[in-house]
Amino acid sequence: MHSVKEAENIIFNLVKPLNNQQDIETVDLSTATGRILASPIISKLDFPHWDNSAMDGYAVIYQDVEQASEEKPAVLKLIEDIPAGYQPQSNIQPGEAARIFTGAIMPKGADTVVMQENTRRDGSRVFILAAPKPQEFVRHRAAYYQSGTELLPAGIQLNAPEIAVLAAAQCTNLKVYRRPRVAILSTGNELVTPDKPLQPGQIVDSNQYALAALVKQCGGEALMLGIIKDEPEALKDAISEAINNADIVLSSGGVSVGDYDYVEKILESLGGEIKMHAVAMKPGKPLTVATFPMANTPIYFGLPGNPVSALATYWRFVQPVIKKLSSIAEGWQPVFVKAQTRDNLSSNGKRETYIWGRLSLVDGVYQFSAAGGSKSSGNLINLAQTNALAVLKVGKSLVNAGEEVEVLQV
Ligand code: AMP
Ligand code: MG
Repeated sequence: MHSVKEAENIIFNLVKPLNNQQDIETVDLSTATGRILASPIISKLDFPHWDNSAMDGYAVIYQDVEQASEEKPAVLKLIEDIPAGYQPQSNIQPGEAARIFTGAIMPKGADTVVMQENTRRDGSRVFILAAPKPQEFVRHRAAYYQSGTELLPAGIQLNAPEIAVLAAAQCTNLKVYRRPRVAILSTGNELVTPDKPLQPGQIVDSNQYALAALVKQCGGEALMLGIIKDEPEALKDAISEAINNADIVLSSGGVSVGDYDYVEKILESLGGEIKMHAVAMKPGKPLTVATFPMANTPIYFGLPGNPVSALATYWRFVQPVIKKLSSIAEGWQPVFVKAQTRDNLSSNGKRETYIWGRLSLVDGVYQFSAAGGSKSSGNLINLAQTNALAVLKVGKSLVNAGEEVEVLQV
């Protein structure tokens, strides 16, 4: 059985990020949120596009106003009004100024803006009551970004700030990586879909829905293959379909001690190479990982059936895999923070233990609260609102309330 750290190394090294031409698609800016940019963006525009004013005020020639003061104002003749979005017509000469507003183009001849708070208006004249600095409140063309250079690199995720940049740069067709395809199947004769009346002994297949939601949340495309009976032929057909159509396959159930040889044999009969079948983690000991020597290099994860175990192993191992596969350059690794626990946290000390609950930031300090109710890995009800898992390493059997604990953000 592998330690969590060993398992992490083995699993993360299996991932080949998408990088082929056929993995790239073009999307419109309005649907690009969350996608991973596949080629760098070079803008044709300078930012700012033209010299413009950073203030409401008056566009002047610096030399005309460098001595101005309350006692000895510089008096200038107003020759034009320049609102934002308007092309100035004038060429400012010594002794002249133009009324100008934030974002408006600087008129020719002027080099400095005096903010209106430091002026007094009298008809077609303006009194400058304080000397500005040379070129003050002028945003110069190309001061932020020069056209023709790289605006955004490949491998970044497109979120609101990047979308803003792309919109401003008029880049509306974007080359992004396709979403990783993740096939999900649930195994078990006892399982039924949520819409069916429950017969005695039956259990609703919640894992299918939970895993599909998680896959979508981290940018993947979920292929829900449904419930597969615990029968070798049915399982073999389903796994075969999955590995042929997906980058990652998630099955849940059927990998605990009694059944595991059976799944392993099916994987092998389909050409799979078993990389591991257990990890010293609680919840979540059974974890089968296999790869297949096919063009689409699928990675198979046989997750435990218990709903909490399935999610814990997903968060710990599968989520980083989907993100790494998506070709995101940074930030695919799991994120751990140090938090103060509000509850006593305990473990048998034998396996690395993950306790689900909520992380919050209180007065600048991360605090962790364990979920209330039963800590059984069969209890999925108290999973609601989970956003973190506290980690107790092997050999650590107790962390008292108030003490520091490492927490995985999910
Ligand atoms: P297994 O790993 O197949 O032995 O399943 C362990 C436990 O998890 C059993 O109680 C199953 O009924 C339950 N279980 C397995 N698959 C699912 C699923 N897809 N959704 C909810 N519970 C499941
Ligand atoms: Mg089962």
